[in-house]
Amino acid sequence: MKILVTGGAGYIGSHVLKQLLESNRHEIVVVDNLCKGSMKAIDALKSVGEFEFIKENLENLPVIEEIFKRGKFDAIIHFAAFIEVAESVKNPIKYYLNNTANAINLIALCQKYGVKNFIFSSTAATYGEPENGKVTEESPQAPINPYGKSKLMVEWILKDTAAANKDFKFGILRYFNVAGASSDGLIGQNYPNATHLIKIATQTITGKRDKMYIFGDDYDTKDGTCIRDYIHVEDLASAHLAVLEYLQTNDSNVFNVGYGTGFSVKEVISEAKKVSGVDFAVEIAPRREGDPACLISNASKIRFQTTWVPCHEDLDEIIQSALNWEKKN
Ligand code: UDP
Repeated sequence: MKILVTGGAGYIGSHVLKQLLESNRHEIVVVDNLCKGSMKAIDALKSVGEFEFIKENLENLPVIEEIFKRGKFDAIIHFAAFIEVAESVKNPIKYYLNNTANAINLIALCQKYGVKNFIFSSTAATYGEPENGKVTEESPQAPINPYGKSKLMVEWILKDTAAANKDFKFGILRYFNVAGASSDGLIGQNYPNATHLIKIATQTITGKRDKMYIFGDDYDTKDGTCIRDYIHVEDLASAHLAVLEYLQTNDSNVFNVGYGTGFSVKEVISEAKKVSGVDFAVEIAPRREGDPACLISNASKIRFQTTWVPCHEDLDEIIQSALNWEKKN
């Protein structure tokens, strides 16, 4: 297939790109403006396989259209987006422009240039504050922050577009909490101002921060801290390849991508201390805006309906791989 990957220099995009290159079955063009993505990842991936890299903003429509015109793509895997809940609460327009408006333009270009498959990075944040904390793909979607809303709108637009065009299919992946790095140490999370829990824990272990904070210990959960479903980035990446393959013989579909197991912030921190052997400093801080108490996937659909088989379903392994990366970088 000829595949356009937007955001292929980013954390998740680069891991998917690596697996696409390793499969040696596709011709790939990557577009990334490097605002969050890393040229180091792109350079490292050149040792895995050949692809074209274009540094460009998705807002630059004439250039993006030119890429579609000459590309004749079979599929697009669209990662390029902002992902920070708290930032989205403070600056919603930034999220609606990049995450929603840019995606609409890409969907329109897919229509114009006959791109038949659209793999979309959605998020568990589209579920909002689910009643019992555990969600299937059919659970109500009621996002409680602009980040989740910016992604949910794209889900709607993809569904309407596919309903109106029988040649257009989407695979929506609702990500849970991704962490870790590639097992061979080639790529990982390069993001300089990371906000994610496991990344911050590894930065604290390696002395890049002198302490870390728990954002709220008064939630209605077993230990008062938020519960999330952490998934290894390599398993999340392989889900994209499985869904792309699924779309070749099936209709559009939506999949949760997690393991179905929840860990609290305190549990993750205590595992990080155990894995590293470092008793780093942790303080309790106020709640972070926009955080739901508990988000765990029911992810049986992707396991049963696609060829996806997770290989790293272990919190210690996730933390260890994130830590190996942090020590080297
Ligand atoms: N969190 C925390 N301290 C940190 C970073 C995150 O307590 O330094 C908490 C955060 O408030 C949330 C959970 O860890 O309850 C997961 O947050 P993260 O940013 O990793 O992912 P999100 O679920 O927001 O996508």
